[in-house]
Amino acid sequence: MDIEQQTVSALKGVGPRVAAKLGRLGLRTVQDVLFHLPLRYQDRTRLTPIGSLRARQEAMFCGNIELSDVVYRGRRNLLCRVADGSGSILLRFFHFSVAQQNTLQRGAFLRCFGEVRNGPAGPEVVHPEYELLPAGVKPEPESRLTPVYPVTEGVHQLSLRRLITGVLDTHLQGIREWLPEEVLAMLQLPTLREALDYVHRPPPQAAVDMLTQGLHPAQQRLAFEELLAHCLSLRKLRERIRRHGAPVIDASGKLFDALRARLPFALTAAQQRVIKEIVGDLRQRQPMQRLVQGDVGSGKTLVAAAAALHAVECGWQVAIMAPTELLAEQHWRNFRDWLAPMNIEVAWLTGRLNAQTRRSMSELVASGSAPVVVGTHALFQREIGFSRLGLVIVDEQHRFGVHQRLMLREKGAVNGCWPHQLIMTATPIPRTLAQSVYADLDVSIIDELPAGRHPVETAVIPDSRRQDVVQRVRSACVERRQAYWVCPLIDESEALQLQTATATEAALRQALPELQVRLIHGRMKPAEKEQVMTAFKHGDVDLLVSTTVIEVGVDVPNASLMIIENAERLGLSQLHQLRGRVGRGAVASSCVLMYRSPLSGAARERLAIMRATNDGFEIARKDLEMRGPGEVLGTRQAGEQQFHIADLVRDQSALPQIERVATILLTRYPQHVTPIVQRWLGVRDSYAEV
Ligand code: ADP
Ligand code: MG
Repeated sequence: MDIEQQTVSALKGVGPRVAAKLGRLGLRTVQDVLFHLPLRYQDRTRLTPIGSLRARQEAMFCGNIELSDVVYRGRRNLLCRVADGSGSILLRFFHFSVAQQNTLQRGAFLRCFGEVRNGPAGPEVVHPEYELLPAGVKPEPESRLTPVYPVTEGVHQLSLRRLITGVLDTHLQGIREWLPEEVLAMLQLPTLREALDYVHRPPPQAAVDMLTQGLHPAQQRLAFEELLAHCLSLRKLRERIRRHGAPVIDASGKLFDALRARLPFALTAAQQRVIKEIVGDLRQRQPMQRLVQGDVGSGKTLVAAAAALHAVECGWQVAIMAPTELLAEQHWRNFRDWLAPMNIEVAWLTGRLNAQTRRSMSELVASGSAPVVVGTHALFQREIGFSRLGLVIVDEQHRFGVHQRLMLREKGAVNGCWPHQLIMTATPIPRTLAQSVYADLDVSIIDELPAGRHPVETAVIPDSRRQDVVQRVRSACVERRQAYWVCPLIDESEALQLQTATATEAALRQALPELQVRLIHGRMKPAEKEQVMTAFKHGDVDLLVSTTVIEVGVDVPNASLMIIENAERLGLSQLHQLRGRVGRGAVASSCVLMYRSPLSGAARERLAIMRATNDGFEIARKDLEMRGPGEVLGTRQAGEQQFHIADLVRDQSALPQIERVATILLTRYPQHVTPIVQRWLGVRDSYAEV
């Protein structure tokens, strides 16, 4: 039987219980087992002399126990000093049995494997794997690199290794090559069978460095197919969406022109270009699926307003969704102010409204008397019905994944007709990458900031110089400028975070009695928040102390000083977002990144990047390099599948070729597409199945 269909229970030693456990790893078919790829490798092919072990190195070594002792450091620790003549190292056990304690005695000869770290008393390994050897026996190193697989509770590394090796022996020949000859000839990479065999059991002479960096041709062959699978899946999805109808929105643009006439500024060329692209999409019979990338402050909200007003002009409803309450509120206020003069009602829906307000807002939406509704994801809860939803706008897309995008579309569907979708993100990524990650979307870029913006000057200061920073706030506010003071998440708990912000506010009030200092945070009632924000907007508050709730979207042009505490804990794009709250007006702005020593290498690098550049595209590029796309694009938070072997940043250069191969398959080998997608994405996660 075909291994693409044959279930794991057909394998020797796999009963229903084991099959269920394997299922938790996503392994259902025999093929799935072969595509369960190593996360990394351990090198047990050589013994390292203890004297040359370095911190963070994972190594195998052996030696005699010279000293074995149980000490109390808050909890019981079993410590064994092991030496081999070149040096000595400590083994540390927090959990150990009496039997273990008895065998790990002075004089015992051990082979150990583990990661070395710098302990309180020099190099040590916590909970090493170890094996007792008869004295004087020279231990045999392994002949090959040891693969390390993703595991789950109840499925152990060793049993998985054994299972996979068994399947390689019996079923590798059953693997189907779905890449056509012409593509294989172009690629010049190993065949699929060779590649799978190689990554699961690298031969003794394998190039260790290449393998650990994921640069071996066998890995590249697999990564290529995996990226291809994602690309195909998104392209299929795109095709499917395009088969749905959408309202043809052919507006004259007169409502938007009216808004434009009242604005105190002209649109940037980039805004005009992107609006034109959107208007072109709205005229089509298929749903728009457009992503707008634009740096913080590039004026995405106005672009959203343009799209919204075109839809409203033709009698369609518009839903605008933001990831946080505060950002939703901000948009609501903006849209309300912009649209009120035209008598266009803007409804407002979040999860925190009381039942009564919620009901009346829902009615406004359902009856269609509110053409525009702004809110959080509460907008798309089951009980909310739209009357004539024609356009969905999602702001700050990096927190939404493909699945959420789909859910939104389905929610708005009426009689097989889907609303248009516009997605806006302030985490811009390079175009080639965007085309792969967002292959289901068209991408527009606002690559220009409104004229007259000054780059924000950024200083990096240790928090031991807090007094200087306070003085800086004083001088700025005395000149009638306004400032933010952000106390970001230090602890996991929201309560503790709030406590820190509250204490900071109290301290700042005391230090700056001549200033109006106010606190804003996520737990406040919407009315209170609105009151504080309005006061800040009107200049009645000089210094706004906040938790990270202001991270996205807050817009007060007169605020020109941003203080960020514990900046070393924040990621690049978060810092960039926060900093983007200033530098929106005509005055020169500055940002102070306060940190607590000592700085880790990565934190130092992040802060240096922030000081060096204001360019969101540049920052996003660095962020991608440092953290990888899963984190940067939020697909991890969105619960989306990570790649098994591909790495978008590392494998970037292959993307254009992958696009071309995807086209070849879709046009000339359509029957190969689904098997490739299913092999890599699984049946459940395959976007093409939606
Ligand atoms: P973002 O892209 O970060 O969402 P916003 O839409 O919040 O940016 O816009 C930032 C600020 O710039 C707002 O105060 C907005 O009114 C203003 N703005 C938008 N477009 C222009 C423009 N063309 N010229 C001047 N200011 C603009
Ligand atoms: Mg915005």
